[in-house]
Amino acid sequence: MLTQVAEGVLIHESEFCQSNAVVVQGRGGVLLIDPGVHEDEMNCLANDLSELGRTVVAGFSTHPHWDHLLWHAGLGTAPRYGTARCAATARDRLSAGVDAVAKAAGIPEGVSLDLLGLITGLPAGTTQIPWDGPGVRIIEHQAHAPGHAALLIEECGVLVAGDTLSDVLIPMLDLNGPADPIEEYLSALRLLEDAAGDVEVVVPGHGSVGGADQVRARIDQDRAYVLALRDGKDPSDPRIGPSAKPGWEWVSDVHLGQLQHLRQ
Ligand SMILES: [Zn+2]
Repeated sequence: MLTQVAEGVLIHESEFCQSNAVVVQGRGGVLLIDPGVHEDEMNCLANDLSELGRTVVAGFSTHPHWDHLLWHAGLGTAPRYGTARCAATARDRLSAGVDAVAKAAGIPEGVSLDLLGLITGLPAGTTQIPWDGPGVRIIEHQAHAPGHAALLIEECGVLVAGDTLSDVLIPMLDLNGPADPIEEYLSALRLLEDAAGDVEVVVPGHGSVGGADQVRARIDQDRAYVLALRDGKDPSDPRIGPSAKPGWEWVSDVHLGQLQHLRQ
């Protein structure tokens, strides 16, 4: 089921970690960002789009993690993009073979990996997605994953945040990448803050869509978490511990893992 979150922007929610696929209406078809996870859900999305008479003219993956790199044959053969660094990282990781990636990442049943990661990197420094539709600004940063992009659809004030600014998921640092993952995360949040002025709707990669008041609240919440992690303090964050949403209790383990890693 597609739900409109702003004029010309719809989302399709997955049962897997409340993942949000984002559909942006353009002139000749739609841009599809992070299409979804389970095969039947992407099939459902493909049917919804065809009922609306819309074809996918471009795809985009916000970052090189498997749950953002999937595709379904029913969505067609439009070019699928990511940042240069995102595409290079995906290619690199997939060079060991899809099965190895699936095993390492613990990809669940019901996920078809046939079209995993077949994305084209946009030239480094590209600031807009090349497509015939409303301008979509690429805000690249290195928090969470290499070449992670948040997308700002300026015309309608929608920020597609990828795996940041979630109401259920704490900042998950890229602990194996940058020399200073904490600083990378903080600088990403500064970039999002700079872009937040005209944002009316924030769509996280996982979790609930938020309104204008939520944009700044979530930036502040993510920053408070990252600072607490840096300083070894109790983050007292509602997304971890007993106040975590049902089904998201595992996020507390992610927190403990991050804490431990940074203490080493
Ligand atoms: Zn994700």
